[in-house]
Amino acid sequence: ALVERGLRLRIYMPFGELIPGMAYLVRRLLENTSNDSFLAAGLKDSPPADVLLRDPKEIGERAKPQAGGSGELNSKSKNEMTETMTLQKMNIQEKHSFVNEPLWDFAKASSREAMQAALDQVRGKLGATYPLVIGGERVAGATTLPRYNPSNTKELIGRVANATPEQVEQAVRVAKEAQPAWAALGWEKRAELLRAAADQMRIHRAELCAWQILECGKPWREADGDVAEAIDFCEYYAAGSLRLANAGGIDLPGEDNRLEYHPLGVVAVIAPWNFPLAILTGMTAAALVTGNTVVMKPAEQSAVMAAKLMDIFEAAGFPPGVVNFLPGTGEVVGAGLVEHRDVALIAFTGSRPVGMAIHRRAAELSGKKGSRMVKRVIAEMGGKNAVIVADDADLDEAVLGVVKSAFGFAGQKCSACSRCIVVGSVYDAFVPRLVAAAKSLTLGPADQPGTTIGPVIDEESLARIKSYIEIGKQEAITALATDSGVLAKQGHFVGPQIFTNVKPESRLAQEEIFGPVLAVIRAEDLDEALTIANDTDYALTGGIFSRSPATLERVQREFQVGNLYINRPITGALVARQPFGGYRMSGIGSKAGGPDYLYQFVVPRTITENTLRRGFAPVEEGE
Ligand code: NAD
Repeated sequence: ALVERGLRLRIYMPFGELIPGMAYLVRRLLENTSNDSFLAAGLKDSPPADVLLRDPKEIGERAKPQAGGSGELNSKSKNEMTETMTLQKMNIQEKHSFVNEPLWDFAKASSREAMQAALDQVRGKLGATYPLVIGGERVAGATTLPRYNPSNTKELIGRVANATPEQVEQAVRVAKEAQPAWAALGWEKRAELLRAAADQMRIHRAELCAWQILECGKPWREADGDVAEAIDFCEYYAAGSLRLANAGGIDLPGEDNRLEYHPLGVVAVIAPWNFPLAILTGMTAAALVTGNTVVMKPAEQSAVMAAKLMDIFEAAGFPPGVVNFLPGTGEVVGAGLVEHRDVALIAFTGSRPVGMAIHRRAAELSGKKGSRMVKRVIAEMGGKNAVIVADDADLDEAVLGVVKSAFGFAGQKCSACSRCIVVGSVYDAFVPRLVAAAKSLTLGPADQPGTTIGPVIDEESLARIKSYIEIGKQEAITALATDSGVLAKQGHFVGPQIFTNVKPESRLAQEEIFGPVLAVIRAEDLDEALTIANDTDYALTGGIFSRSPATLERVQREFQVGNLYINRPITGALVARQPFGGYRMSGIGSKAGGPDYLYQFVVPRTITENTLRRGFAPVEEGE
């Protein structure tokens, strides 16, 4: 009948079993009647059909920032006016001239082939030795640290120089000498170099992914996300730095005021291994674009990836000495940088004990040993993140969201879900589905495209995770214990582990494990769920699955986390869209990939001039 009336019709029909089919149908109805759906948009603003049914790809193209674009659309036709409303959000991005780097679609054969080719190519380059880079010179360390593939511990990825205390001294001196000229280069030129680094990463994208797949055991999609994030950091901080460059000031008749941001000096960047390119790039890029020079100290476990980043900075054209590459142990190189008199800021991301030790030591050293500054510390640390599944949650969504958040990259993300708090009656329905979904994940070597869970980073990590599994067996009920089978002989593999009936105060529910171990906790009601969720030392990420607006509103108010996610996984923060970072014992510092981040790398100065002067003093020739 509808077709006979000349109406456009799409039939949507669930197929399969009755109960899941009904749930599916209801969800589709909810989606199609949501405020963001095209049906609602059609009823509200009555836009012409060709605007409403426009190919999203075309809209995406139009929303890309234009060079020098102000965000204004050119044409003012009726259609375009409607479109202006539809594109409102995108225009906000346009104003900031930043769009996230698109991820690769591995459903496309061309993407898969490119990644496979890069893996083959990188495999031909394994086993090399990577020196330090100080002032543009390649320098050997006293020893080297070998890196083996965590998916196959017989495969040597490379050997990376291990810097000595003397080399720490030398690198900081070189960085200090290079700093004034780097600062004098100006904001625009520094931002340009950062964009050039982003371009280099785009050129070498597949290769960079391949290195971290092999060195850090990141499955393909995770590796791609990491490289895209590194590109985003460069572009976003390049764009953001221009805001600091033009901070302006209020001028009155007779009085000029100017606010300026000046670099701090030498920044030590101390990074973790779990986002081997993105985090190291992010901290370094922020320090550089604001006019500081950098000594990069990567984690031991991802030092080859960091050597590739050093190559990128060099290829982009950063002058010698502006970025220095100083791999080595945390105890010698990391601690040596923290101790150094001329290191003005330590940008650290890593574990809580190391972050706290750096914070303490920096305070002790401030103003001592001939230093005239308070050493600054940014310390982004761990989490014990929870997802609350309310009793009215859409369980299909909640299961997927929790599985992705808990087991993606084998739970080795600071944002990973390690506690799942299930409210009331839904517990019994939810847990078996969660277990079944986790069972369906494919544990395997990270270089295999079908792998959803790769290995954990190293032997030490594996041992720590296993010790928590033992604790879990005593403290709770084992709902899923995945056996890694033959993979255990080949690499550092541990599959998803789920414990239920976990007590909120138990070690499993309180300590950061950093592996694929999930504690499921039962809560009577939302009050109890929120109490449990907030009862940890950390405040990093958290999530809620619920369909009740009142519940969502309350959780937004009361759940104490730096990044709260509603009805979606709690990992995968994107630069600019979800500025990332926590508080309490999860860190000090403002959010990475957010609008305030760069302010941590500068000193603000205000200059006020009385312009009611009585003429200038004459200047002698040659003065
Ligand atoms: P880690 O603390 O062991 O190491 C981080 C860095 O600190 C490494 O480069 C290491 O060599 C260095 N280091 C070690 N001892 C040091 C010392 N005494 N002085 C100075 N530097 C020292 O952490 P990791 O295992 O590399 O990373 C995992 C941790 O990082 C987890 O706790 C995770 O939650 C956290 N993390 C947090 C965020 C965030 O944004 N909040 C992001 C990623 C990782």
